Parts: sequence; C-alpha cells; structure tokens
Amino acid sequence: MSKILVIEDERKIARFLELELRHEGYDVETAGDGRTGLERALEGSPDLLVLDLMLPELSGIEVCRRLRHESDVPIIMLTAKDDVSDKVMGLDMGADDYMTKPFAIEELLARIRVALRKPRAVKEAPAEAEICRIGQLSVNPANYEVRFGDELLQLTKKEYDLLYYLMTHRDRAVTRDELLENIWGYEYTGDTNVVDVYIRYLRHKIDERFGVKTIQTIRSVGYLFSYE
Ligand code: CA
Repeated sequence: MSKILVIEDERKIARFLELELRHEGYDVETAGDGRTGLERALEGSPDLLVLDLMLPELSGIEVCRRLRHESDVPIIMLTAKDDVSDKVMGLDMGADDYMTKPFAIEELLARIRVALRKPRAVKEAPAEAEICRIGQLSVNPANYEVRFGDELLQLTKKEYDLLYYLMTHRDRAVTRDELLENIWGYEYTGDTNVVDVYIRYLRHKIDERFGVKTIQTIRSVGYLFSYE
C-alpha cells in the first residue's frame, strides 16, 4: 500500500484529501504546517507528497527545496494562485507536478497514479560527456559550466539542462512536450508555459546579452537551437 503524506493547512481540504485517498486504498498521513510536514516527510519515508504551496512555519517551496537534498520522493504541489512564476519556482525546486486549486479530485488521483508509477531515477550527466561547443558558446556537462567566449555565465540548473538539451539536439525542432519530458521529467498534462518562461530566461542571458541569435521559435512546434 502506497503511503501519501498530505501537507496542507486548510483543514477542510486536508480532511477531504485524507478521506478520498483512504477511499482509494492509500495509507494517508497529514501535516498542517510546513515544518511538521518536512519532519514527517523525512522520518516517515512516504511514497508521495501532496504539498500545499502556502503554508505556515515553512512555505511549500522551502519544504520542497529542503526535502530534495535528502529524497527524490514524488511531490505534487497544490497552488491557490494561477501564477506561472509560483509553478515555475515549485517545479524548479524539484516538485514533479502541480495542481491549481480548486481542482477535481479525479484529476489529482490520476496524477498521483502517474507519479507513483514513474521510476525514480536521478538524472546525471553521462560519465564521458564532452564539452559541447557551438559558436562562442560552450557547455561542460562535467561541471555544469557555461561560457560565452571566456565569460562564465550564471545559469540555474534548469536553464542549464534546457540549454544543454537544445544544443545537443541542434538544428532540429524540439517540441515543448519533448523538453518537458526530458528536462522536467514528468508526464505533463497542463499548460506548457514553463518551457516558454525558461526560454525567455535563456534568451535574456545569452541572445540579448551577447547580441546573437541562438534559440529560434518554430511556430506551433517548439524551439530550435541554431547559432547565427
Ligand atoms: Ca495553504
């Protein structure tokens, strides 16, 4: 029986989730604030977390961030805001999926089933990965360094992953779904805004800064890396 930890401060929602999940045959534990939730997640080794974003004591983002140092347990975030920056931040902190409140319980159950099925694998750069150089841009998977000419760029892990993927699949159009699957690593059923947001970050840090054009938008398909 899979064990699910629900970290949610709104008691009505927590109670509702507890009953529904029990009804589905899961073993359920709940926590009403971020600090307690983090402790239970670390001590109780649940199989999955349903984690509210807005929590007292410790925010959902912070719980996610701290937990990821210790564990790769699947995390589905609940967010009250339909704000892409919150979702992006949560996903960047290592959440596997998110749902915006109010949500249909059937949809959450479906996503829980998907998350529990997914093999938990830590993605690492292949041992013999070589530095990828295109034009002035170079990416070193051994130490995650990205340089333009001699200059070292400050990229977040997700920006790095996205750039590396695009560069190693250069000169062909890559769809948003492909990027989500390979970089965010979850079966994605919602909007694909998160990819566009990160493409904007990369363009800001590379194209705009150095006056080059690397990431092209292929309308209604996705993106293509090609150095001009
Ligand atoms: Ca809340």
